[in-house]
Amino acid sequence: MTKETKEPMIRIAIQSKGRLNEDTMSLLAEAGIKIPSSKRTLLVQSPSFPIEVLYLRDDDIPQSVATGVADLGIVGENEMEERGEKVEVVRRLGFSRCRLSLAIPKSTPYSGIEWFEGKKIATSYPNILRSFLATKGVNADIHVITGSVEISPGIGLSDAIFDIVSSGSTLVSNNLSEVETVMQSEALLIATPNLDNEKRAILQDLLFRIEAVKAAEDKKYVLMNVPTERLEDIIAVLPGAKSPTVMPLATPGWNSVHTVIEERRFWQVISQLKALGAQGILVIPIEKMIL
Ligand code: AMP
Repeated sequence: MTKETKEPMIRIAIQSKGRLNEDTMSLLAEAGIKIPSSKRTLLVQSPSFPIEVLYLRDDDIPQSVATGVADLGIVGENEMEERGEKVEVVRRLGFSRCRLSLAIPKSTPYSGIEWFEGKKIATSYPNILRSFLATKGVNADIHVITGSVEISPGIGLSDAIFDIVSSGSTLVSNNLSEVETVMQSEALLIATPNLDNEKRAILQDLLFRIEAVKAAEDKKYVLMNVPTERLEDIIAVLPGAKSPTVMPLATPGWNSVHTVIEERRFWQVISQLKALGAQGILVIPIEKMIL
């Protein structure tokens, strides 16, 4: 069958390359949304979901969504804040976390925010920096550069930088130390204002899938064998498990207990479970959770 009928389709702008691109592609893949990767053209349609992906530079995403060139976008909060475009923030995505910080040469003593008075600061985020410095009453010379901000103090281009920090290793390898954290950032799912109803329905479907992926993150399905006389005590220490599944085993006096636990909480109770007589504890990853 030829597909000439116009099926409703939503267009999402995502970063063409970089950290945000990798995290976004894995979220879409986990949500069962295949994006053909062989031909990385600007606009690619998914064969498994009514969505087309528009690959852009991350700093172009807020404007393309605000103007309706794309219906949706996945972009760092830092870019949203810098561009100040009017969009709807649909969901915080919890990945590509980073912070925007001021950093100065490691050998320079730092006295406090007044240190920046009259100094030259290199950044790709002049608007965020300008309003931060204004709230602190500091006047500095903001020098806008678009890439490799971290090398500017070393080559005499600036006294300090204002840039994205994640692990901090870029700062360390450029002999810089982080002295002020100005904002925290994570990836956001944004939408153009006034999405029509057909597109909003696709967005709801997309959100449903994202919720299922997010709900399963860091959660484990846990099974254990428990003697009947310890059942109550063991259920009492299982975090958050109001009603675990309990099934009798073929061996009289033993049960199989199944529950879902956040992984970090599981480690808190594992020794208690063993002390209370749980045996054969299995911990299994969960791919999706529909709540
Ligand atoms: P790091 O060395 O881990 O502190 O990373 C610093 C560099 O990685 C920054 O200068 C950015 O270019 C890039 N980076 C780290 N995290 C992000 C992010 N969430 N979004 C965009 N770029 C990032």
